Amino acid sequence: MKKRERIEIIKKELFSIYGDREIELDHENNFQLLIAIIMSAQATDKWVNKVNQTFFQHLKTPQDGIEMWEEAIREHIKRIWLFRWKSKNIHQTCLDIVNIYSWEIPNTIKELTKLPGVGIKTAKVYLWVTTNAPYLAVDTHVHRTLNRLWIVKTKLPLQTDKAAEKIFTDDDTAKLHHSLVLFGRYHCIARKPKCKTCPLLHVCPYKKKNLD
Ligand code: SF4
Repeated sequence: MKKRERIEIIKKELFSIYGDREIELDHENNFQLLIAIIMSAQATDKWVNKVNQTFFQHLKTPQDGIEMWEEAIREHIKRIWLFRWKSKNIHQTCLDIVNIYSWEIPNTIKELTKLPGVGIKTAKVYLWVTTNAPYLAVDTHVHRTLNRLWIVKTKLPLQTDKAAEKIFTDDDTAKLHHSLVLFGRYHCIARKPKCKTCPLLHVCPYKKKNLD
């Protein structure tokens, strides 16, 4: 079966399961969304949400982040992996949004990735949620599932990102991104993929399937 045909089957199956699901990071506004995505690097959404139940009561605007200072941010997020690096970036991001971008969070990948702690994946996820931009942001789940499904053959997420940009150009790309994230998070998991009950088993060429 050709790759394009397999992609259409993958989309159909995944959209029927995950197509209507929204991002799992809790937030009340776009600013909090951006901060939550920064915090979620190498941390689970569930854990970020738990920490943000209290943190976001104090952090609703960039001005709150500026007034809180880095030390207080660090105290709030100290149970998150890489909290020192992230608190520094969150504080500087608040300063940059106010001082450089006049309170407006930028809405291009180029400008967003100039903010501290905002990489290409963070920028694409943010733009997907806020503008439905057709980006396939590549995190560890997307990288893994696309490789197992032989849609790409890459070693690093950045390589997958570049390859995916050429393959996925349709309007439903953002929807596919989120479906792949959830599929990788809950089904095609890293250690023991649930191949026996996988809706993509018939199109998956992965050689180390877990069929026990
Ligand atoms: S069959 Fe297994 S490896 Fe292939 S996509 Fe499904 S869960 Fe992942």
